[in-house]
Amino acid sequence: MSIFGKKSTDSASSPVAEFVPSPHQPAAPTVVKSDEEWRQELSAQEFQVLRQSGTERPYTGEYWDTHTKGVYQCRACGADLFTSNEKFDSHCGWPSFWAPLAEEKVRYIHDRTMGMARIEVRCATCDSHLGHVFEGEGYGTPTDQRFCINSVSMKLVTSTTDPADATDG
Ligand SMILES: [Zn+2]
Repeated sequence: MSIFGKKSTDSASSPVAEFVPSPHQPAAPTVVKSDEEWRQELSAQEFQVLRQSGTERPYTGEYWDTHTKGVYQCRACGADLFTSNEKFDSHCGWPSFWAPLAEEKVRYIHDRTMGMARIEVRCATCDSHLGHVFEGEGYGTPTDQRFCINSVSMKLVTSTTDPADATDG
């Protein structure tokens, strides 16, 4: 006898995941800098995307077609955001993920610019713009969501990172 041998048949319908991206808002950003400070730390393009909610042109970014194993960090503050495990080939020209590394890593903002109701994805740690999340496009991923993220908003840290990599200060 197996305790896993019997399957309940009265709940055969798999629960349809409702797209509720912001059941809770994470704590306020812990990395807060002025535009002047960000401008000094970021390149012009990084600043335009991360701090001014810009969008890199499709198929031009560093990671849209990358399959390297690793963790994608926020290019502004270094927080872990996504991993290669959730990255998939959407062929949309931007790196696409079906989930963040953890829900508390990102925050969502309803974006009604450009005449569309979109959901903006930001880094929860420093409030930098990452991209947008779309749902129900039929990509066949576990969540049926597509986090469409600018390459320039992220930095890929490959899994072979030297663990002795020490940080100053
Ligand atoms: Zn960040």
